[in-house]
Amino acid sequence: MKHASQRTLPDLRVPTIFVKPQTSFSGEEGGGFLRGDVVVVDNRIVGMRPSDKHLDGRILMPRLVEAHCHLDKCHTVERMAVVGGNLEQAILAQRQDKANWTDQDILSRAKRGLSEFVTAGTGMVRSHVDWGDTAPPPRSWSLMCALAEETSQTTLQLSALVGVAQMSDRSFAKQVVASIPDGHALGAFVFGQDGLEAGLRNIFDCATDRGLPLDFHVDEGLSPDLNGLELIANIALETGFSGPILCGHAVSLAVHPTATRNRIIEKLSKAGICVAMLPTTNLYLQGRNGGTPTMRGITLAKELDQAGVPVVVGTDNVRDAFCPVGRHDPMYALEMAILGAHLDSPFDTWLKTITTNACLALGADAPSLNGAPLDDVLLCDATDFSTLISGASRRPANTYFEV
Ligand SMILES: [Zn+2]
Repeated sequence: MKHASQRTLPDLRVPTIFVKPQTSFSGEEGGGFLRGDVVVVDNRIVGMRPSDKHLDGRILMPRLVEAHCHLDKCHTVERMAVVGGNLEQAILAQRQDKANWTDQDILSRAKRGLSEFVTAGTGMVRSHVDWGDTAPPPRSWSLMCALAEETSQTTLQLSALVGVAQMSDRSFAKQVVASIPDGHALGAFVFGQDGLEAGLRNIFDCATDRGLPLDFHVDEGLSPDLNGLELIANIALETGFSGPILCGHAVSLAVHPTATRNRIIEKLSKAGICVAMLPTTNLYLQGRNGGTPTMRGITLAKELDQAGVPVVVGTDNVRDAFCPVGRHDPMYALEMAILGAHLDSPFDTWLKTITTNACLALGADAPSLNGAPLDDVLLCDATDFSTLISGASRRPANTYFEV
């Protein structure tokens, strides 16, 4: 008979947000952590005991989740003649770059981005993929689907980024959805276009038929005339759509009058819609005035959070026409979000944006340390949340026993 192997990881801190209450975790409480000896059986965490050792009390936490990025576009900036413009100029520059998108080019850049996420300790990644103008999928979609199949170090989910006006054509919408394998998502760029409502209704219908999650780029601008967010919430409430819905950007929410903001936020909360704040790309592209910006172009993360809307922080663009710098690391995106949106301590509230809330937005179970395999857990060179978010090194916890 094989005996279970029990081992102990002495004197560690675990964030209490990742421990289910009333379980086998007991230790010294403080600063949003439980501190003690972590008990591991057969390579899974089963609990914590109070410790009499005084080592360094490093942080153990679940792997990170990236809810919004663009692995098809990343690492293209060095071959663009001009960068530095607003959203429209970035879209144009990125479209021109597609002349370089051979199979090898797309795959080598996407693999590089994915590998950077893995190094940063990311266990799940959702990447948008530009769909283009035709109903049959672009080559990049097929290549990225194959990459998602073969990737074992992290889960890769894809979201089709389709033109919303084109989706107002029912047969176009049906063809697009037929090319999305189970486990991936449907989305669109929503920016006040003609035919917006008809396109959105088709998207909701098709996603319902297939059981696909939805993921929109919404209102990526500072005009109060943009309000796709409320239209999406209205349709979600009207149809009772059951799958997860993630709305990225929601920049114009910041420029609506207070009563309008409150009304939209209340509908988002009722509909269970998650909002992705994307600080790097928004800070770079929004509010351009030819000089130094005076507008931040960031969604209302605090107000959304206070109203019970799950807020997610995403990396979005890395070294492409939309953002010429950056890194594939959700923790770095959170650091930018803290600065861009004045997210204050306690920071464990905001750590949820790249863990618990991101899982919810992607339709995955909330991360928990109870029963977690060590492969899915990070050992971090930090003893408090500020150091953790400020770029402390992270490595898989299963390497703990190798040193
Ligand atoms: Zn995006």
